[in-house]
Amino acid sequence: MASSNFIDHVRIYCQSGKGGAGAVSFRREKHVPKGGPDGGNGGKGGSIILRGNTQLWTLLHLRYKKHVTADNGGNGSGHGSSGADGKDVILEVPLGTIAKDAETGEVLLEVTEEGQEAVLLPGGRGGLGNENFKTATKQTPRYAQPGEEGEEKTCVLELKLLADVGLVGFPNAGKSTLLSVVSAAKPEIADYPFTTLVPNLGVVSYRDHKSFVMADIPGIIEGASEGKGLGLRFLRHIERNSILLFLVPADADDIVKEYQILLNELTKYNPELLDKERILAISKCDMLDEELIAEIKMNLPKDIETLFISSLANMGLVELKDAIWKSTNK
Ligand code: GDP
Ligand code: MG
Repeated sequence: MASSNFIDHVRIYCQSGKGGAGAVSFRREKHVPKGGPDGGNGGKGGSIILRGNTQLWTLLHLRYKKHVTADNGGNGSGHGSSGADGKDVILEVPLGTIAKDAETGEVLLEVTEEGQEAVLLPGGRGGLGNENFKTATKQTPRYAQPGEEGEEKTCVLELKLLADVGLVGFPNAGKSTLLSVVSAAKPEIADYPFTTLVPNLGVVSYRDHKSFVMADIPGIIEGASEGKGLGLRFLRHIERNSILLFLVPADADDIVKEYQILLNELTKYNPELLDKERILAISKCDMLDEELIAEIKMNLPKDIETLFISSLANMGLVELKDAIWKSTNK
Protein backbone atom coordinates (compact mmCIF):
# COMPACT_ATOMS: atom_id res chain seq x y z
CA MET A 1 0.00 0.00 0.00
CA ALA A 2 2.83 2.35 0.75
CA SER A 3 3.59 2.72 -2.92
CA SER A 4 0.07 3.67 -3.81
CA ASN A 5 -0.33 7.25 -4.79
CA PHE A 6 -3.95 7.28 -3.83
CA ILE A 7 -3.37 7.36 -0.13
CA ASP A 8 -2.58 10.78 0.97
CA HIS A 9 1.03 10.16 1.71
CA VAL A 10 4.32 12.02 2.00
CA ARG A 11 7.88 10.95 2.51
CA ILE A 12 10.16 13.03 4.67
CA TYR A 13 13.78 12.67 5.67
CA CYS A 14 13.89 13.56 9.36
CA GLN A 15 16.83 14.37 11.53
CA SER A 16 16.56 15.13 15.20
CA GLY A 17 19.09 17.34 16.99
CA LYS A 18 22.23 16.13 18.68
CA GLY A 19 22.50 16.74 22.39
CA GLY A 20 24.98 19.41 23.48
CA ALA A 21 28.21 18.32 25.16
CA GLY A 22 28.68 18.68 28.86
CA ALA A 23 31.48 21.06 29.85
CA VAL A 24 34.68 20.45 31.74
CA SER A 25 35.34 23.52 33.78
CA PHE A 26 36.61 24.51 37.23
CA ARG A 27 35.74 27.44 39.40
CA ARG A 28 38.37 30.09 39.19
CA GLU A 29 37.85 32.79 41.71
CA LYS A 30 40.22 35.30 43.15
CA HIS A 31 40.62 33.69 46.51
CA VAL A 32 39.89 30.13 45.47
CA PRO A 33 42.92 28.96 43.57
CA LYS A 34 41.63 25.45 43.08
CA GLY A 35 37.87 25.60 42.76
CA GLY A 36 35.71 22.54 42.23
CA PRO A 37 34.25 21.42 38.92
CA ASP A 38 31.50 23.65 37.50
CA GLY A 39 31.03 22.37 33.94
CA GLY A 40 27.33 22.57 33.03
CA ASN A 41 25.25 20.07 31.09
CA GLY A 42 24.63 20.10 27.39
CA GLY A 43 21.12 20.96 26.17
CA LYS A 44 18.80 18.37 24.70
CA GLY A 45 18.68 18.07 20.94
CA GLY A 46 15.41 19.12 19.27
CA SER A 47 12.88 16.37 18.52
CA ILE A 48 10.67 15.89 15.48
CA ILE A 49 7.12 15.85 16.71
CA LEU A 50 3.77 15.29 15.02
CA ARG A 51 0.80 17.16 16.41
CA GLY A 52 -2.85 16.32 15.68
CA ASN A 53 -4.87 19.17 14.21
CA THR A 54 -8.56 18.83 13.39
CA GLN A 55 -8.42 21.75 10.99
CA LEU A 56 -6.35 19.71 8.56
CA TRP A 57 -7.79 17.08 6.24
CA THR A 58 -4.85 16.12 4.09
CA LEU A 59 -1.07 16.02 4.14
CA LEU A 60 -0.92 18.43 1.25
CA HIS A 61 0.82 21.11 3.29
CA LEU A 62 3.76 18.75 3.79
CA ARG A 63 4.06 17.82 0.16
CA TYR A 64 7.18 19.90 -0.45
CA LYS A 65 8.80 19.22 2.89
CA LYS A 66 11.47 16.75 1.88
CA HIS A 67 13.72 17.29 4.88
CA VAL A 68 13.10 18.36 8.39
CA THR A 69 15.95 18.95 10.78
CA ALA A 70 15.67 19.91 14.43
CA ASP A 71 18.34 22.03 16.10
CA ASN A 72 21.18 20.63 18.13
CA GLY A 73 21.36 21.28 21.84
CA GLY A 74 23.86 23.88 22.99
CA ASN A 75 27.02 22.84 24.85
CA GLY A 76 27.28 23.31 28.56
CA SER A 77 29.77 25.86 29.88
CA GLY A 78 31.47 27.01 33.06
CA HIS A 79 29.72 28.37 36.12
CA GLY A 80 27.38 25.42 35.88
CA SER A 81 25.51 26.83 32.91
CA SER A 82 23.57 24.38 30.86
CA GLY A 83 23.41 24.58 27.11
CA ALA A 84 20.10 25.61 25.56
CA ASP A 85 17.78 22.85 24.37
CA GLY A 86 17.54 22.56 20.60
CA LYS A 87 14.18 23.73 19.24
CA ASP A 88 11.76 20.93 18.39
CA VAL A 89 10.22 20.75 14.95
CA ILE A 90 6.48 20.31 15.18
CA LEU A 91 4.61 19.10 12.13
CA GLU A 92 0.86 19.62 12.27
CA VAL A 93 -1.01 16.67 10.81
CA PRO A 94 -4.65 15.66 10.39
CA LEU A 95 -6.11 13.07 12.73
CA GLY A 96 -5.65 9.58 11.36
CA THR A 97 -2.07 10.18 10.27
CA ILE A 98 0.23 7.24 10.70
CA ALA A 99 4.00 7.44 10.50
CA LYS A 100 6.05 4.57 9.15
CA ASP A 101 9.70 3.81 8.78
CA ALA A 102 10.18 4.15 5.03
CA GLU A 103 12.71 1.32 4.89
CA THR A 104 11.03 -1.33 6.97
CA GLY A 105 7.42 -0.25 6.68
CA GLU A 106 7.11 -0.53 10.43
CA VAL A 107 4.37 1.67 11.86
CA LEU A 108 5.99 4.05 14.30
CA LEU A 109 3.02 5.91 15.60
CA GLU A 110 -0.47 7.13 14.92
CA VAL A 111 -1.99 10.51 15.63
CA THR A 112 -5.64 10.24 16.56
CA GLU A 113 -6.47 13.22 18.75
CA GLU A 114 -6.57 16.96 18.53
CA GLY A 115 -3.47 18.41 20.14
CA GLN A 116 -1.82 15.01 20.59
CA GLU A 117 1.95 15.34 20.32
CA ALA A 118 3.74 12.21 19.22
CA VAL A 119 7.51 12.12 19.10
CA LEU A 120 8.62 10.81 15.75
CA LEU A 121 12.34 11.18 16.39
CA PRO A 122 13.61 12.17 19.80
CA GLY A 123 16.49 14.57 20.07
CA GLY A 124 19.71 13.34 21.64
CA ARG A 125 20.20 13.79 25.35
CA GLY A 126 22.60 16.47 26.46
CA GLY A 127 25.86 15.30 28.04
CA LEU A 128 26.46 15.83 31.74
CA GLY A 129 29.03 18.43 32.68
CA ASN A 130 31.92 17.57 34.96
CA GLU A 131 30.19 19.07 37.99
CA ASN A 132 28.11 15.89 38.03
CA PHE A 133 31.11 13.64 38.44
CA LYS A 134 32.61 15.01 41.56
CA THR A 135 32.92 12.38 44.30
CA ALA A 136 34.60 12.23 47.66
CA THR A 137 37.66 10.65 46.16
CA LYS A 138 37.62 12.51 42.89
CA GLN A 139 37.42 16.22 43.53
CA THR A 140 38.52 17.38 40.12
CA PRO A 141 36.95 15.19 37.44
CA ARG A 142 38.40 16.16 34.12
CA TYR A 143 35.80 14.62 31.96
CA ALA A 144 32.26 15.36 30.88
CA GLN A 145 29.82 13.43 28.70
CA PRO A 146 29.46 14.18 25.04
CA GLY A 147 25.96 14.87 23.79
CA GLU A 148 24.00 11.93 22.45
CA GLU A 149 23.67 11.83 18.69
CA GLY A 150 20.36 12.75 17.11
CA GLU A 151 18.56 10.20 14.96
CA GLU A 152 17.91 10.20 11.27
CA LYS A 153 15.25 8.32 9.45
CA THR A 154 13.21 8.55 6.33
CA CYS A 155 9.61 8.47 7.38
CA VAL A 156 6.41 8.04 5.47
CA LEU A 157 3.33 9.81 6.72
CA GLU A 158 0.08 8.36 5.55
CA LEU A 159 -3.42 9.53 6.09
CA LYS A 160 -5.65 6.68 7.04
CA LEU A 161 -8.72 8.65 7.76
CA LEU A 162 -10.13 10.04 4.59
CA ALA A 163 -13.77 10.31 5.38
CA ASP A 164 -16.35 9.94 8.07
CA VAL A 165 -19.04 9.07 5.57
CA GLY A 166 -18.62 7.10 2.38
CA LEU A 167 -21.39 7.34 -0.21
CA VAL A 168 -22.43 4.09 -1.77
CA GLY A 169 -24.75 3.98 -4.74
CA PHE A 170 -25.09 3.15 -8.40
CA PRO A 171 -24.30 5.79 -10.99
CA ASN A 172 -27.02 8.42 -11.12
CA ALA A 173 -28.17 7.78 -7.59
CA GLY A 174 -27.43 11.42 -6.85
CA LYS A 175 -24.20 11.04 -4.90
CA SER A 176 -22.30 13.90 -6.49
CA THR A 177 -25.28 16.19 -6.26
CA LEU A 178 -25.75 15.44 -2.59
CA LEU A 179 -22.11 16.11 -1.89
CA SER A 180 -22.27 19.38 -3.75
CA VAL A 181 -25.26 20.67 -1.81
CA VAL A 182 -24.24 19.62 1.69
CA SER A 183 -20.57 20.41 1.62
CA ALA A 184 -18.83 23.72 1.53
CA ALA A 185 -16.27 23.54 -1.23
CA LYS A 186 -12.82 23.22 0.20
CA PRO A 187 -10.39 23.80 -2.62
CA GLU A 188 -7.50 21.91 -1.07
CA ILE A 189 -9.76 18.92 -0.87
CA ALA A 190 -11.57 19.27 -4.16
CA ASP A 191 -8.22 19.62 -5.85
CA TYR A 192 -6.95 16.28 -4.74
CA PRO A 193 -3.65 15.77 -6.47
CA PHE A 194 -2.67 12.27 -5.52
CA THR A 195 -4.83 10.40 -7.92
CA THR A 196 -6.22 10.48 -11.39
CA LEU A 197 -9.59 9.15 -10.39
CA VAL A 198 -10.64 11.78 -7.97
CA PRO A 199 -12.47 10.70 -4.87
CA ASN A 200 -14.71 13.61 -4.22
CA LEU A 201 -14.26 14.73 -0.68
CA GLY A 202 -16.34 17.45 0.87
CA VAL A 203 -16.38 18.92 4.33
CA VAL A 204 -19.93 19.08 5.60
CA SER A 205 -20.41 21.82 8.14
CA TYR A 206 -22.62 20.86 10.95
CA ARG A 207 -24.20 22.64 13.88
CA ASP A 208 -21.91 24.57 16.23
CA HIS A 209 -18.90 24.52 13.94
CA LYS A 210 -18.64 20.79 13.90
CA SER A 211 -17.96 19.13 10.62
CA PHE A 212 -17.41 15.80 8.99
CA VAL A 213 -15.97 14.62 5.73
CA MET A 214 -18.19 13.04 3.14
CA ALA A 215 -16.71 11.16 0.23
CA ASP A 216 -18.26 10.28 -3.08
CA ILE A 217 -16.07 7.32 -3.85
CA PRO A 218 -15.79 6.63 -7.52
CA GLY A 219 -15.83 3.08 -8.55
CA ILE A 220 -16.85 1.06 -5.56
CA ILE A 221 -19.86 -0.09 -7.43
CA GLU A 222 -19.49 1.53 -10.78
CA GLY A 223 -17.30 -1.22 -12.06
CA ALA A 224 -14.56 0.42 -14.09
CA SER A 225 -11.70 -1.85 -13.15
CA GLU A 226 -9.30 0.88 -12.21
CA GLY A 227 -11.98 2.64 -10.28
CA LYS A 228 -13.01 -0.50 -8.54
CA GLY A 229 -9.55 -1.04 -7.17
CA LEU A 230 -9.40 2.52 -6.13
CA GLY A 231 -12.69 2.38 -4.34
CA LEU A 232 -11.63 -0.71 -2.48
CA ARG A 233 -8.34 0.72 -1.49
CA PHE A 234 -10.21 3.69 -0.29
CA LEU A 235 -12.57 1.60 1.75
CA ARG A 236 -9.76 -0.18 3.45
CA HIS A 237 -8.59 3.13 4.67
CA ILE A 238 -11.84 4.43 5.93
CA GLU A 239 -11.47 4.82 9.59
CA ARG A 240 -13.08 2.22 11.77
CA ASN A 241 -15.86 4.31 13.14
CA SER A 242 -16.83 5.94 9.88
CA ILE A 243 -20.14 5.07 8.32
CA LEU A 244 -21.57 4.19 4.93
CA LEU A 245 -24.42 6.16 3.44
CA PHE A 246 -26.34 4.16 0.86
CA LEU A 247 -28.15 6.16 -1.77
CA VAL A 248 -31.03 4.64 -3.71
CA PRO A 249 -33.07 6.94 -5.94
CA ALA A 250 -36.79 7.22 -5.40
CA ASP A 251 -37.46 6.09 -8.97
CA ALA A 252 -35.61 2.81 -8.59
CA ASP A 253 -37.74 -0.16 -9.68
CA ASP A 254 -37.34 -1.87 -6.36
CA ILE A 255 -35.71 0.11 -3.59
CA VAL A 256 -35.22 -2.80 -1.22
CA LYS A 257 -33.71 -4.93 -3.94
CA GLU A 258 -31.34 -2.21 -5.06
CA TYR A 259 -30.15 -1.73 -1.51
CA GLN A 260 -29.58 -5.47 -1.20
CA ILE A 261 -27.53 -5.51 -4.41
CA LEU A 262 -25.34 -2.69 -3.16
CA LEU A 263 -24.87 -4.46 0.11
CA ASN A 264 -23.94 -7.71 -1.62
CA GLU A 265 -21.42 -5.95 -3.85
CA LEU A 266 -19.68 -4.51 -0.85
CA THR A 267 -19.76 -7.74 1.08
CA LYS A 268 -18.18 -9.60 -1.80
CA TYR A 269 -15.09 -7.47 -1.48
CA ASN A 270 -14.88 -7.15 2.21
CA PRO A 271 -17.37 -8.61 4.65
CA GLU A 272 -15.94 -6.40 7.36
CA LEU A 273 -17.73 -3.53 5.75
CA LEU A 274 -20.90 -4.92 7.20
CA ASP A 275 -19.60 -4.00 10.62
CA LYS A 276 -19.89 -0.35 9.75
CA GLU A 277 -22.85 1.76 10.67
CA ARG A 278 -25.13 2.19 7.69
CA ILE A 279 -27.80 4.69 6.77
CA LEU A 280 -30.06 4.45 3.74
CA ALA A 281 -31.18 7.61 2.00
CA ILE A 282 -33.89 7.46 -0.64
CA SER A 283 -32.77 10.25 -2.94
CA LYS A 284 -34.67 12.44 -5.40
CA CYS A 285 -37.78 12.41 -3.22
CA ASP A 286 -39.04 15.55 -4.88
CA MET A 287 -40.32 13.10 -7.47
CA LEU A 288 -42.60 11.45 -4.94
CA ASP A 289 -45.91 12.56 -3.49
CA GLU A 290 -47.10 11.80 0.03
CA GLU A 291 -48.95 8.75 -1.11
CA LEU A 292 -45.94 7.21 -2.80
CA ILE A 293 -43.74 7.96 0.19
CA ALA A 294 -46.23 6.21 2.44
CA GLU A 295 -46.26 3.25 0.10
CA ILE A 296 -42.48 2.99 0.00
CA LYS A 297 -42.29 3.33 3.77
CA MET A 298 -44.37 0.20 4.16
CA ASN A 299 -41.72 -2.02 2.76
CA LEU A 300 -38.36 -0.62 3.61
CA PRO A 301 -35.51 -2.82 4.80
CA LYS A 302 -35.96 -3.32 8.52
CA ASP A 303 -32.36 -3.37 9.61
CA ILE A 304 -31.29 0.10 8.58
CA GLU A 305 -32.24 3.67 9.40
CA THR A 306 -33.88 5.17 6.31
CA LEU A 307 -34.43 8.79 5.37
CA PHE A 308 -36.11 10.49 2.46
CA ILE A 309 -34.09 13.27 0.89
CA SER A 310 -33.92 15.53 -2.11
CA SER A 311 -30.74 17.40 -2.89
CA LEU A 312 -32.47 19.54 -5.49
CA ALA A 313 -35.49 20.46 -3.35
CA ASN A 314 -33.48 20.59 -0.13
CA MET A 315 -35.66 18.02 1.60
CA GLY A 316 -34.53 15.99 4.58
CA LEU A 317 -30.93 17.17 4.42
CA VAL A 318 -30.79 18.54 7.96
CA GLU A 319 -32.27 15.29 9.23
CA LEU A 320 -29.71 13.39 7.21
CA LYS A 321 -26.83 15.36 8.71
CA ASP A 322 -28.26 14.77 12.18
CA ALA A 323 -28.46 11.04 11.54
CA ILE A 324 -24.91 10.93 10.18
CA TRP A 325 -23.60 12.92 13.08
CA LYS A 326 -25.29 10.65 15.55
CA SER A 327 -23.91 7.53 13.89
CA THR A 328 -20.36 8.77 13.52
CA ASN A 329 -20.28 9.83 17.15
CA LYS A 330 -21.68 6.74 18.75
P1 GDP B 1 -24.15 10.12 -9.11
O1 GDP B 1 -23.80 9.39 -10.35
O2 GDP B 1 -24.63 9.19 -8.06
O3 GDP B 1 -23.05 11.01 -8.64
O4 GDP B 1 -25.43 11.04 -9.45
P2 GDP B 1 -25.47 12.60 -9.78
O5 GDP B 1 -25.37 13.41 -8.56
O6 GDP B 1 -24.53 12.89 -10.86
O7 GDP B 1 -26.97 12.74 -10.27
C1 GDP B 1 -27.50 12.00 -11.35
C2 GDP B 1 -28.71 12.71 -11.90
O8 GDP B 1 -29.73 12.78 -10.92
C3 GDP B 1 -28.44 14.15 -12.30
O9 GDP B 1 -29.10 14.42 -13.49
C4 GDP B 1 -29.01 14.95 -11.17
O10 GDP B 1 -29.45 16.22 -11.58
C5 GDP B 1 -30.17 14.11 -10.73
N1 GDP B 1 -30.47 14.36 -9.32
C6 GDP B 1 -29.60 14.35 -8.31
N2 GDP B 1 -30.22 14.66 -7.15
C7 GDP B 1 -31.53 14.85 -7.45
C8 GDP B 1 -32.70 15.20 -6.67
O11 GDP B 1 -32.65 15.42 -5.46
N3 GDP B 1 -33.86 15.28 -7.33
C9 GDP B 1 -33.98 15.05 -8.67
N4 GDP B 1 -35.17 15.15 -9.22
N5 GDP B 1 -32.90 14.75 -9.42
C10 GDP B 1 -31.70 14.65 -8.84
MG1 MG C 1 -21.07 11.09 -9.42
